[in-house]
Amino acid sequence: MPLYEYRCLDCNSKFEVLLKDLSKEVVCKNCGSKNVKRLISAFSFASTGDSGVKVTPSSGCSACSSKSCSACGTS
Ligand SMILES: [Zn+2]
Repeated sequence: MPLYEYRCLDCNSKFEVLLKDLSKEVVCKNCGSKNVKRLISAFSFASTGDSGVKVTPSSGCSACSSKSCSACGTS
């Protein structure tokens, strides 16, 4: 199950949100604040560790391998 990791900018707690929940507004599970920031989830990427390496945008579609989802209509 894909997870996104968020950090609350108010209480500084970290929490994970299931991908299917991203259509909803994400709020902190600790304090309920909407002031949250999505972190890069390490396991979502074949992360390189090398500096300057391009990373596949997380906004890409999981249903197609394209970097742009303008063609696949998944939204
Ligand atoms: Zn919070």
